[in-house]
Amino acid sequence: MRRKVFFIEGDGIGKEIWKAGRPVLDRALELASGGELQLEWVELLAGKKAFAETGSYLPQETIDILKNADLAMKGPLETPVGKGFRSLNVTLRQTLDLFACIRPVQYFEGIESPVKHPERVNMVVFRENTEDVYAGIEWAADSKEAKRLLTFLRDEMGVCLDERSGVGLKPMTANGSKRLIRKAIQFALDQRRQSVTLVHKGNIMKFTEGAFRNWGYELAAEEFAGQVICEGGDCCPPGKLVLKDRIADAMFQEVLIRPEQYDVVATPNLNGDYLSDALAAQVGGLGLAPGVNMSSRLAFFEPTHGTAPSIADKDLANPGSLVLSGALMFDHLGWHEAANRVRSAVGRAIALKKVTIDLATQIDGASKVGCKEFGETLMRFLE
Ligand code: NAD
Repeated sequence: MRRKVFFIEGDGIGKEIWKAGRPVLDRALELASGGELQLEWVELLAGKKAFAETGSYLPQETIDILKNADLAMKGPLETPVGKGFRSLNVTLRQTLDLFACIRPVQYFEGIESPVKHPERVNMVVFRENTEDVYAGIEWAADSKEAKRLLTFLRDEMGVCLDERSGVGLKPMTANGSKRLIRKAIQFALDQRRQSVTLVHKGNIMKFTEGAFRNWGYELAAEEFAGQVICEGGDCCPPGKLVLKDRIADAMFQEVLIRPEQYDVVATPNLNGDYLSDALAAQVGGLGLAPGVNMSSRLAFFEPTHGTAPSIADKDLANPGSLVLSGALMFDHLGWHEAANRVRSAVGRAIALKKVTIDLATQIDGASKVGCKEFGETLMRFLE
């Protein structure tokens, strides 16, 4: 069986991690299936490479193909801060309606962690991906929209902001929140997980984040009655999934002190962005943090990290996050043996203590190797 997978190389360290990581995925599949399962990689252009070749950072052809695709993978894409074009990642998520960003957090033995019991960390973050302040609906202070909003706020609401104030919106809908929470609950039930935690800042932002929490409980009652128990009641029969909620700031403390009490997490866009990076730091950092963005049609796998410009083109990047994203893709396709081979190779390479610089600083007695060599080590440990 041959599955077509579209891929975008990405900017910064993208080229290096693909070069080191893609052969690992192909070899894992070959070993796991005796050559019966294969991937047909088809490159799509985006980012700087696309600009150099077509004059556009996100060519229409790339969008059109992805709109009809069901499987894709990408490297990181650069977005300048505070200037220039809109984030390509956000544009892709919104154009393709990739509403759920799913990031599992898995600990590999041997990595020094800032938490006492990292082996107890086993969470999967479901982050809403299209709404919230992250939708990027905002205006510069000198735009006519910002001026109109500032006038409205001053005249109608009595809120006075000076003329140099930028203004942004935080849209959150019942539909957008519920489809994400539904996916998280369904995943937790399928995987026999223990709990789903809704992480929100609803004490302050009542009509957006507070509503997210309420929509979560509403959905559980409407669609999962009998399968899900809401925390608080005494009745929590074994075997039932518990739905609970935590205020976002408290949750950051909780996952450091009591990570074992958290399992699947469902959260609005910005909380999810912060939380998944913080959780990644507990288990080795961004170099080992895989992810997938999903629409109702497309599963678009990608490392959680960015383009890491300061280490790009120096053979320093860790291809781990890319290969672990590939393992997630194998799981998604039902190719679990190939997925397990990849994860096991990463674990064995870490145990060998010859790792890329990001991990070398976190493993006692480790020596550092380049991106290319780490990829070769992973290849060896697939056998
Ligand atoms: P970053 O993830 O690129 O880097 C954060 C830190 O982690 C840096 O110290 C970097 O060296 C390190 N790091 C990241 N990936 C690594 C890897 N594979 N191996 C070793 N070290 C690694 O975050 P940033 O610096 O905030 O962002 C840089 C650019 O990437 C920005 O333009 C940003 O918009 C973009 N970005 C893209 C994505 C994406 O495409 N999904 C995600 C995050 C950031």
